[in-house]
This record gives sequence, C-alpha cells and structure tokens, in this order.
Amino acid sequence: MKSRIRRCDICGEYTLKEVCARCGVPTRNPLPPRFSPKDPYGKYRRIMRYGRDRSA
Ligand SMILES: [Zn+2]
Repeated sequence: MKSRIRRCDICGEYTLKEVCARCGVPTRNPLPPRFSPKDPYGKYRRIMRYGRDRSA
C-alpha cells in the first residue's frame, strides 16, 4: 500500500490531508518536482517565502 503522505509547499508541513490546516492551501505529494510550470501554487509559495525573508 502506497503512502498517502502529502506536504504543504508553503509551511513545509507533512500531512495526510489534502488541505494544509495551517495555510489552507492544497497540499501535494512531495515526490513530483517542486518547480513545475504547471504548479498553480508556485506564486503563493514565492510570496510566502519572500515575505518571510523580508520580514525576518
Ligand atoms: Zn501549510
């Protein structure tokens, strides 16, 4: 039986749920490449990452 573990791209939290309880964004299977041109949440990930860097 395959693992159904998923991962939130925003906070990096691993979860079994399809939506991150922290961020409210859909989680993904961590196996596919992270930088996919089809990734609809890449912009959110970038916003969160840059936002954190700037506010740190
Ligand atoms: Zn999250």
